[in-house]
Amino acid sequence: MKKVAVFCGSSIGFNEVYKNEAIKLGNHFIEHNIGLVYGGGKIGMMGILADTIIEKNGNVIGVIPGLLRHEEVAHANITEMIVTKTMSKRKIKISKLVDGYIALPGGFGTLDEIFEALTLGQLGIETKPVGILNTNGFFNHLILQLDVMVKEGYLKQSNKEMLIISESVEDLISQMFHYKVPEMTKIINKVVK
Ligand code: AMP
Repeated sequence: MKKVAVFCGSSIGFNEVYKNEAIKLGNHFIEHNIGLVYGGGKIGMMGILADTIIEKNGNVIGVIPGLLRHEEVAHANITEMIVTKTMSKRKIKISKLVDGYIALPGGFGTLDEIFEALTLGQLGIETKPVGILNTNGFFNHLILQLDVMVKEGYLKQSNKEMLIISESVEDLISQMFHYKVPEMTKIINKVVK
């Protein structure tokens, strides 16, 4: 994985543990020469992550829709900033740039983006690893909801298993590196392409 998209909060959260894990992930990207692609903000978890990588001369590409590109939120000091016309064009642009997706704690925006990535995988449109960093059990309730979806017949167990979950940065990235695309997804991917 040369470039990974990280979706995360435009807020910082109340517990320092989340910010510290964002810094840890940034340092891991530096150590393993992984470029960051993200929403382009300078605020919240996004800003912490981008700053950590930029301070160590790493590669950070922001992809921001024009409507968010004002001084209060857009990062002014990253390797490259790509401005898109709409939110949906931003998602397409990000997907063209990256080899995988990670979600850190965040709100609606973060969930929207990571579930879009999962949906692309489920439909076989993409075959990239999608992971969530479950710092402090932040996503535990969401994971339980996925189990409810499987139990009630709305989500295939095999599709649920496409989501890589870990509480540790090292383990998450290692699992993503070793991600094996399900056979069915590969077949659908060939048809879609
Ligand atoms: P949220 O989780 O609701 O805070 O939204 C964060 C996600 O949505 C990030 O991954 C961004 O891609 C996008 N986003 C939300 N707010 C902003 C912002 N002010 N600047 C740039 N991207 C944002």
